[in-house]
Amino acid sequence: MNCQRCHSTDKITTGSYFNTEMICMKCKVREENHKMYDMAKKEEVKQVRAGNYNFEGIGLPNDLKIHQDSEDDACDMLYGVDNNQ
Ligand SMILES: [Zn+2]
Repeated sequence: MNCQRCHSTDKITTGSYFNTEMICMKCKVREENHKMYDMAKKEEVKQVRAGNYNFEGIGLPNDLKIHQDSEDDACDMLYGVDNNQ
């Protein structure tokens, strides 16, 4: 199964805590290092305890998204360009 986030052809995929995507281990590591990961994980646990097994996640943070159709966004991500200026 391909990674639904970066579309790599890694054989091992796992569920994302941020949304319902099946992602490869590289994307998983990126998630785990994100500052909102603990929050996403806690929310998932909370929802499952409340009986909501179809919880879709808190949503993928923008800086974890991989933009393949927009080079501008990719550059912003790489160089941390501040759009507010
Ligand atoms: Zn991936």
